[in-house]
Amino acid sequence: MYKEHLVSPGPTAVPPDALLAMAKPIYHHRTKRFDALFGEVSQKLKTIFSTTRDVFTLTSSGSGAMEAAVVNTINAGDKVITINGGKFGERWAKINKKYGAIVDEIVVPWGKSVDPMAVDAKLKADPSVVAVFVQHCETSTGAMHDVKALAAVTAKYNAILVVDAITALGVHECAMDAWGIDILLSGSQKALMIPPGLALIALSDKAWKRVEQCKTPVFYFDLRAAKKELEKKTTPWTPALTLVIGLNSVIDMMIAEGLPNVYARHANIAAATRKGCEALGLKVFPENPANGVTAALAPKGLSGKKIKSVMEEKYKVSIAGSQDVEKADIIRIGHIGYYDKSDIVLTLSSLEFALKDLGHSFTWGASLAAAQEVLYTGAPKV
Ligand SMILES: *Cc1c(COP(=O)(O)O)cnc(C)c1O
Repeated sequence: MYKEHLVSPGPTAVPPDALLAMAKPIYHHRTKRFDALFGEVSQKLKTIFSTTRDVFTLTSSGSGAMEAAVVNTINAGDKVITINGGKFGERWAKINKKYGAIVDEIVVPWGKSVDPMAVDAKLKADPSVVAVFVQHCETSTGAMHDVKALAAVTAKYNAILVVDAITALGVHECAMDAWGIDILLSGSQKALMIPPGLALIALSDKAWKRVEQCKTPVFYFDLRAAKKELEKKTTPWTPALTLVIGLNSVIDMMIAEGLPNVYARHANIAAATRKGCEALGLKVFPENPANGVTAALAPKGLSGKKIKSVMEEKYKVSIAGSQDVEKADIIRIGHIGYYDKSDIVLTLSSLEFALKDLGHSFTWGASLAAAQEVLYTGAPKV
């Protein structure tokens, strides 16, 4: 028998308290009971988002919040900049093009992060650009973009900054109000530690001005309707009630741990995972690595896909592979949300089993020794 372990960059492990909360009998959502829950969750989400703005809870996967960001702010013919440093950045251009935006895509090589000055130069050259779309963590490459610096750039122009923080919010500091992020969005199945099905989005005043003049047809993801209903502590459509109950439980967990401690825990286990991979000859892929997902190159002669499948099928430890092997033959280990030191030890140990099966040469325990040193000495300052 092998126990199953999910160490992918989404979906992620769900804490037992949240599982138990979600196992309780369902009730009707047009009730005072739901309004009280939803009001409380929406209020507490502001802490997670570091904002005083409303945080809207949509029933969809994370991409629904990406689409909502576009469809509520962008008119056909508007000029936008999208930052494409991987699969998720590429999605920003795809969504914008569907709705008729004129897209200027900044293509960043896989594993690299965008230069905020390149965005500044573009906005300076064309101040009619209405929005800049980016990921905080580009999950396909494990790279962070410097959202704080990007927000300082967009603050000088007309353009709003739209940040997909689906694998960063709850992992890294992401100070929406203090940094000046205009739209910040996330999804339930990553650092929020519950199953897929909820998307979250918050908007600054600058972003709301764009919503008010936006004429793009929208029905399900109409944030004006969501705002009207949130004032009454409810949603326009049937909410994924079970997931909202789970969300309440995990937010309490995060607040009890303390957000700075949550970020420090991720920084520590990410640093340990990186050291462990490097000790086995798997080079960390991104230049500026995120703390939620470790992307590491397969060693010479081995394929990332093969390593992933041996770990998953033989050892029941489920990591992720590359989303584009041509661009980077990597494995991606997720440590987003409900993960601690022992999860990293377990994952690296199974990685060693798989590498041994595949004939890779290394000393048993090399990754564990390297990781344990980091895990033991504790969290680096974030
Ligand atoms: C997971 C993820 C998404 C959302 O994908 P869905 O499959 O729609 O939930 C979007 N952006 C990033 C950076 C992600 O990691």
